[in-house]
Amino acid sequence: MDRRIIIAIDGPAGAGKSTIARRVAERLGFTYIDSGAMYRAVALWAIREKLDPAGTRHMEELAKAAAIEFEPGSSSVRLNGEDVTAAIRTLGVSNAASIVSAIPGVRRALVETQRKMGEEGNVVMEGRDIGSVVFPNAAVKVFLDAHPDERARRRVEQTGEGDRDAIAAQIGERDQRDRTRPESPLVQAPDAVYLDSTALSQDEVEEAILKLVRARMSNGKEYQ
Ligand code: C5P
Repeated sequence: MDRRIIIAIDGPAGAGKSTIARRVAERLGFTYIDSGAMYRAVALWAIREKLDPAGTRHMEELAKAAAIEFEPGSSSVRLNGEDVTAAIRTLGVSNAASIVSAIPGVRRALVETQRKMGEEGNVVMEGRDIGSVVFPNAAVKVFLDAHPDERARRRVEQTGEGDRDAIAAQIGERDQRDRTRPESPLVQAPDAVYLDSTALSQDEVEEAILKLVRARMSNGKEYQ
């Protein structure tokens, strides 16, 4: 019997997915996978090669050729052997990633890699389409949301980039693009649990998700 357990956490930018997904994975001893980092890595490569992130053919080629690896137990990401953990977090890469991610061939290539990563063991994977497309049979699906003002505030706090209005505008633009693209748009899977983290602490969000996991797993005995 297949005992792999997938926990899918989707939601818009700045809802707190990364922090929570990492914490939940740590608590459960699962592998944490940040699918957004993969789109960011392809975008970074495109920027470095001075290629248009909306250029379908080139982006598909990069997505297929990119060797993206996550260091187990840390948040380090490697692109073609190079540590790009910090380089993929700039505003320019965020915007380019959201453009690159609308290309169907790019999504196909990265979704395939994500599914392979999921085959290797118990994972907590976060993104935009994990519960809806990548792992429609995930054991637990959470759609993590927060008020747009709060998401902008958290991003400013997290990145140290000062201009809150600019960040809010950038997040709004990225969300709009992610929600309206024809291929795998950001949507809540019908069987996902909606969690609004606006007024919740990280501990409270973590506890709410762990509660869902416990309720789902063997009478709550297996993962305490
Ligand atoms: O989650 P993060 O903000 O790092 O993702 C960067 C971009 O990658 C998102 O704005 C989105 O366009 C794209 N993405 C996606 N599908 C995922 C994860 C991220 O389209 N599963």
